[in-house]
Amino acid sequence: MKWSLCAALICTGSARAEWVHRDTDGIMGTRITVELWDEDPAKGQQAIDAVLEEMRHIDETMSTYKPTSEVSQVNDKAADGPMHITKELFDLLTQAARYSEITDGAFDITYASVGYLYDFRKHVRPDDAQIAKALPAVNFRHVILDPQNQTVRFSQKGVRIDLGGIAKGYSVDCGIDVLKKLGYSRAFVSAGGDSRIIGDRFGKPWIVGVRDPTKGEGNVIARIPLVDAAISTSGDYERFFEEQGVRYHHIIDPHTGHSASKVRSATVIGPYATRTDGLSKTAFVLGPDKAMEIYNRLDDIDAIIVKLDGSVIYSKGMQRGAPAAAH
Ligand code: ADP
Ligand code: MG
Repeated sequence: MKWSLCAALICTGSARAEWVHRDTDGIMGTRITVELWDEDPAKGQQAIDAVLEEMRHIDETMSTYKPTSEVSQVNDKAADGPMHITKELFDLLTQAARYSEITDGAFDITYASVGYLYDFRKHVRPDDAQIAKALPAVNFRHVILDPQNQTVRFSQKGVRIDLGGIAKGYSVDCGIDVLKKLGYSRAFVSAGGDSRIIGDRFGKPWIVGVRDPTKGEGNVIARIPLVDAAISTSGDYERFFEEQGVRYHHIIDPHTGHSASKVRSATVIGPYATRTDGLSKTAFVLGPDKAMEIYNRLDDIDAIIVKLDGSVIYSKGMQRGAPAAAH
C-alpha cells in the first residue's frame, strides 16, 4: 500500500528529534515499513532493528515456503495425531478459527489444501479434477485444537494450512508491541497491505491511502485519517495471472477451490492488524453485500469495498453523519 509520508524535523534543545523511517524488503516476501518518532534517531534505528528481528522470527515460524518452519512441520505431521506446538502458533491458530466462524468460513487457513496447487508467479493452476480431489480437505473444522495440551491435529489426510491470510497482520501487531514495550507512543508499522498506527502525528492523524484497484499503483480512492488503528487492504491486483480473459489471483474461495473474485478490493479498518487482515479476504469470497453485513455487525470494524463494476461502498461508520468509529 502507498501512503503519504511527511518527514518532519523538530529541534528540541540540543537533541534532534525526528521521524525515523525505514523500508525493508525480503521479510515475508513483502515490503516492511516502520516509522516512529524519537528524540534520538540512533535509538530509533535500533528500535526498528528490533521490530524487523521480531518479524523475521515470525517469518521463520509461520512460512510454508520454509520447510523447517513450525507450520511446515504441522503440515507434515498433524494428520498422524496430536502435535504439540508453541503457544504463539497455538494462539494464532485459535484466532484464525475465530475469523472462520465470524466470516461463515470465507476465511479458512485450510484453503491451502487446494491453494498449494497454485503458483501465481509461474502461472500454474490446478485443473477441475485436481481441485475436486483436494477440496474435501478444505474446511477449518478439520483443524482440531486442544488448549489443555496445546496441540493441533488434522482430522484427515490431505489437510494443509497456510497463514498467509493473517501472518502479515499478526507480524505488524507484534512489531507494534515491540515498539510499545520500548516506550514509543507514535509509530507506523506496515507489512504489504497490512498497517497499524499508534498515536498521532502531533495533533494530526496519520493518513493512509487506499489504492484504486481499477487503476495503476499510486492512484487512490480515499485517504483515511487514522489514529490508534489498523488497516488492511486485499486486492485482486496483488498476486495474479490472466488466462483467456480470466484473472486467477491469490484469494481462494474455500467452497470452490477457485479464485474468489466477487470484488476488486476490500479495505478493513479496526483496532489491530491481525483482525483487519483476517477479515479483509471475506468480501472476495462472500461478495460485497454479505461481507458488508458482517463488517457492519462488528462494532470495532469499518470497511471500504470496491465492487466489480468499480463502484465503492462504505460501512455504516464511514458514511456521512455517522458517529465516530469505535476505534
Ligand atoms: P497479503 O498477502 O498481501 O497481505 P491478503 O491479506 O489479501 O494479501 O492475503 C492473501 C493471502 O491470504 C493469500 O496469499 C493466501 O496466503 C491467503 N489466503 C487465500 N485465500 C484465503 C482464504 N480463503 N482464507 C484465508 N487465507 C487465504
Ligand atoms: Mg494481508
